[in-house]
Amino acid sequence: APGFSPEAVRADFPILAHQAGGERLIWLDNAATTQKSRQVIDAISGFYTSRNSNVHRGAHPLAIAATEEYEEARAAVARFLGTADPAGIVFVRGATEAINLVAHSWGRSALGPGDEIVLTALEHHSNIVPWQVLAQERGAVLRVVPLDARGDLDQAAYRRLLGPRTRLVALTQVSNVLGTVVPVAGMADEAHRHGALTLVDGAQAVGRFPVDVQRLGADFYVLSGHKMFGPTGIGALYARPGLLDTMAPWQTGGGMIETVSFENSTYAPVPQRFEAGTGPIAEAVGLRAAIGHLHSLDRHAAAVHEEELTRHLAERLAALPGVRVVGNPRRRVGAVPFLLDGVPPDAVATALGRRGIAVRSGHHCAQPALRHFGLDSVVRPSLALYNTHADIDSLALAVGALGRSGAPPLAPPVTADSPA
Ligand code: PMP
Repeated sequence: APGFSPEAVRADFPILAHQAGGERLIWLDNAATTQKSRQVIDAISGFYTSRNSNVHRGAHPLAIAATEEYEEARAAVARFLGTADPAGIVFVRGATEAINLVAHSWGRSALGPGDEIVLTALEHHSNIVPWQVLAQERGAVLRVVPLDARGDLDQAAYRRLLGPRTRLVALTQVSNVLGTVVPVAGMADEAHRHGALTLVDGAQAVGRFPVDVQRLGADFYVLSGHKMFGPTGIGALYARPGLLDTMAPWQTGGGMIETVSFENSTYAPVPQRFEAGTGPIAEAVGLRAAIGHLHSLDRHAAAVHEEELTRHLAERLAALPGVRVVGNPRRRVGAVPFLLDGVPPDAVATALGRRGIAVRSGHHCAQPALRHFGLDSVVRPSLALYNTHADIDSLALAVGALGRSGAPPLAPPVTADSPA
């Protein structure tokens, strides 16, 4: 049915009804990880209860069924990303592992001395460090697209950075710290015009709005299951058709070979060539359930809700005395970082946690983006589709009270098992 009701969808997420120390849990730490629906929890539990088996190497019924389920999950991820080709989907541990895979398997053979990798100042450390290590190893050069005063990427500077030596543009689709939505499609066009490939970090995007990797112009696309309402321990790498075939294996061992002798081994076709060892089987079942749940919603309406809620969150925070919202990107979704005068970010997050409001403080694995604003730590509430205006009212009330009282009260912290 068209339309989207956050109140209705909340009923699918058992933890949101959880009472933390007598207070309803207000989960505003979605950029770190999202909560899991009953559908996802039941799918994982159902797999372990009655269908558990390893995949790909058995003739008995459970092995055959588990293999089918694993491959159906792969096909579901492919469709979720707008592609028909499951062979372009590699299951990995998360976005971090997907990026490391590309840096090793593609980067080591594709890059030579003087070749250039373009990154942006918004990147999560997981989309910086693997390229840095690779560049050091191969004698390649990193170029960084700077941010403007609002926290948007400087597009003129980006165009100036592209050149005949650009081999890869690796960029996030949504910033995990500023919430900036990056105009990836246009930037990918420019990259392709220079003969470069693109790697898009979709960790903060895929749970927030529909993504079509082909329309986006992503040659590689990475995601983490746990940030799109699925389980931890699973992510996916998408590669444009044909690209994986040109890449050397990364991790080696069982599952990725065709034949092995002590003299030589031959490798399985893609994507299995990139999946050494036993994969995240129950996690894939859970991820497929998360995708099914998202497909059951009006995703366009859910995305409109979340962007509207993000604006509301930024406005409510900015209106509080002593609060400074960090950044003001043209399009923002999810994260709205802020500072409260006179109270360090860690103390703000701890005090909010005692009231059942979960937010994060710190550098959020995006030190360069914060440094741009002269900061090394912020408080970061971050939204998902199940958040409501009531959640934001509670946050604003608590931050307002904290601003008036200064230092947080010295009550013992609330834990999940403390008496209500
Ligand atoms: N990229 C972005 C934008 C992220 O927000 C995160 C997680 N915070 C990652 C990559 C890394 O994801 P994971 O830790 O699940 O590998």
